[in-house]
Amino acid sequence: MAQSVAGTLTPQQISIPTIPLQEILPWAVFGGLLLLLAIYFVGAEQGATSLIHGRTVHEFLHDGRHLLGFPCH
Ligand SMILES: [Zn+2]
Repeated sequence: MAQSVAGTLTPQQISIPTIPLQEILPWAVFGGLLLLLAIYFVGAEQGATSLIHGRTVHEFLHDGRHLLGFPCH
């Protein structure tokens, strides 16, 4: 058995925890939906595709829209 210097771990002593797919899948889907919602509000929440009436959301996200290269005006 390999001896380690005081306070250090050898590569054989390090174990990386694994996360089963069944546990991470719902969170991955949830995160993906949040990202799609964020992309919608930054990129398409204006004009005919607007879900929220008025220009408040558009103006609030205006700089982010230009920063990410979405067409605006
Ligand atoms: Zn603009």
